[in-house]
Amino acid sequence: MLTNLRRIVLEFSQDLELENALLRLVKQVKRVMETDCCSVYLADYRHKKFILMASDGLSIDSLGQTSVAFTEGLIGLVGQREEPINISNSKQHPHFVHTPYVEEDEFNAFLGTPIIHQRKVLGIISIQQKQSRYFTEDEESFLVTLSAQIAMAVANAEARGIIDMPKDTQWLKQLTGIAGAPGIALGPIMISSPNADLGDVSLQKTESIDTQLHRFGNAIVKTRADFSQMADKLSEVINDESLDIFEVYIQLLDHASLGHEVEIKINSGWMAESALKLVIDHYIVQFEALDDSYIRERASDIRDLGNRLLLNLQQEVQANKVLPDEFILMADDVSASMLAEFQHKGLKGILSLSGSNNSHAAILARALDVPAIMGIGKLPLNQMEQQVVILDGYSGELFISPNETLIREYKHLIAEECLLADKVKQVENLPAITKDGRAIELLLNAGLLTGFEHSKNSGALGIGLYRTEIPFMNRSCFPSEQEQTKLYRQVLTSFSDQPVTMRTLDVGGDKSLPYFPIVEDNPFLGWRGIRITLDHPEIFLVQVRAMIRANQGLNNLEIMLPMIASVTEVDDATRLINQAYYELSTELSCKLVKPRIGIMIEVPSTIFQLRELAQKVDFFSVGSNDLTQYLLAVDRNNPRVASLYDAYHPAVLRALNIIAAESSKYLVPLSLCGELASEPAGALLLLAMGYDKLSMNPHNVARIKWVIRHVDFQRAKVMLSHALTFSTAKQVHSYLNEQLEYLGLGGFVRAGM
Ligand code: PEP
Ligand code: MG
Repeated sequence: MLTNLRRIVLEFSQDLELENALLRLVKQVKRVMETDCCSVYLADYRHKKFILMASDGLSIDSLGQTSVAFTEGLIGLVGQREEPINISNSKQHPHFVHTPYVEEDEFNAFLGTPIIHQRKVLGIISIQQKQSRYFTEDEESFLVTLSAQIAMAVANAEARGIIDMPKDTQWLKQLTGIAGAPGIALGPIMISSPNADLGDVSLQKTESIDTQLHRFGNAIVKTRADFSQMADKLSEVINDESLDIFEVYIQLLDHASLGHEVEIKINSGWMAESALKLVIDHYIVQFEALDDSYIRERASDIRDLGNRLLLNLQQEVQANKVLPDEFILMADDVSASMLAEFQHKGLKGILSLSGSNNSHAAILARALDVPAIMGIGKLPLNQMEQQVVILDGYSGELFISPNETLIREYKHLIAEECLLADKVKQVENLPAITKDGRAIELLLNAGLLTGFEHSKNSGALGIGLYRTEIPFMNRSCFPSEQEQTKLYRQVLTSFSDQPVTMRTLDVGGDKSLPYFPIVEDNPFLGWRGIRITLDHPEIFLVQVRAMIRANQGLNNLEIMLPMIASVTEVDDATRLINQAYYELSTELSCKLVKPRIGIMIEVPSTIFQLRELAQKVDFFSVGSNDLTQYLLAVDRNNPRVASLYDAYHPAVLRALNIIAAESSKYLVPLSLCGELASEPAGALLLLAMGYDKLSMNPHNVARIKWVIRHVDFQRAKVMLSHALTFSTAKQVHSYLNEQLEYLGLGGFVRAGM
């Protein structure tokens, strides 16, 4: 049974034509389940009805013609109840509706199960039999399993159906993906498919090994040059760490690395293209099989590298596409190198069929301030070329071939966004102070965005969170003390008259290092952050030494410890920091300034130990991203539970409020450096709770200043007291959105002013 199920699902998913796929499916199910009829109905939400799309057993003439209302008949009942319905004699059922056109008179037994994707009923699959009987538990399980497995494919096929709708359709052609980077873009799509695709290479052997080695050598040289050029192009707008991906590519090309493996394959008789394909496919399969989402994302980097090598190997010249002045880049898998290639040529938005907001493309899109939608699903790329779309990076919505009215509406919104951005810029260098005089410090989250000079002009009063793991990621081994000192010195110098809070290495969870793999069943509850660095004092000490060394003469460093869950971790880490400090003081024979030490409050246990922790550290900084994940037990990176992850959940808000009250009681300076700080409603609530500092990415500093400068502290206090009374996140959101609109600040949380 399992083999049958697998085969049916596989064949169904591989067919790009939904109608064909459904027809094949009903035939196979009828045969495998040895029944008399199998049918599939798909939901039409506009007309609130199910349409009979495929059947082996019902009248062929009724396919696509017959429909039942959502509230009608047994099919409607399955849809309403969202559960399987098993009936031995359907005609006697009170919900049975006689539909002569489908010719089902001879059938008695009925089993229907809903096809549900992301809580939405997409359709119903039913089986019927002449014999009056209940279907067995096994038959019911089979049908339920089948419908659960084909649901995703049906959703993808529906998306393709939307694209296929005629241009002059009266319906809105709308798809939704993962909001990857905020903003709105309007323009034609430009498809970037790799000109050379390793997927198309058929394996061939050859005698001319030397020629193949020579060809491959040339391709390496050319590819290496391509990557250096791309890194140069991007270096004006992206900082060093983000560009390290190109370094990794170049290293992979080395003789000692991937390049060498290809040469070995060539030496064993494979054509250069075949050898390349064999090696790249091997890497991709290995990367994709790993649990770690960061490494899985790297599979796309490897694929990108392979295709670029192939391109040069075949000496194909990139087709000289005439690029429109402004365009939205779309690709199966948008890669760092594509962005580098197009970012100066009119790139206005990014659409990636695959990936999430953890992939390099999304990280770079945010760094470039280009709106992006990720993971939009399997769409036929060739049909999308040059289609005009509206991309809403706030909501993840994509409108294909929008009508004039919608275009006018969005153009208006884009103009308003520009106006708002200009207006907001006016307060960039003014203090973040409410109308009635309550001030709060705004700081930067750094580590990814454009050069520090640029960030310095954001109007922030220092760096509240410098994520040090990024420079550790795109490399092949741990950086040395010297390398780290150089990097930290640059950061501290760029903000020489302002505090810079550097967080010690916070890898594990979703952030792992390619040269230090951690394989765990539950990585977010596993070896993460301070747990790793305390187990590896040699790594921790090198990093802390580098920080303290870099701080010499500048004295603006603060050290922050991530993932603290207990007091002993603070004691152990402080001991190591002291050790590094005394060692360096001796080595450098000078009196160094000891940095202030703080901890992240992101593991719920710390909320109940604030009194003890307050005696041991100089400041607290709440990591609301992780605090939300751990309080609600919702993996912050899992799209399946994305709707449950909510920093406005009453429990999270109440926890944040308790932290503020306790920190104030114990006189510990308090900041928050999670994403909540950069949200207008979040910032107002945190201000009202009494947070001293909020840390956020540079794009948001002026926006949050604007918000704070246009509200009374007393009003924020009232908002907070109301927000804390609600019992669901939904109620909190609707109240806060209403308040923002009332205060004239709605333009900060949706498109338009
Ligand atoms: C947080 O958890 O809120 C935080 C700021 O750290 P990160 O997002 O890097 O885990
Ligand atoms: Mg965190």
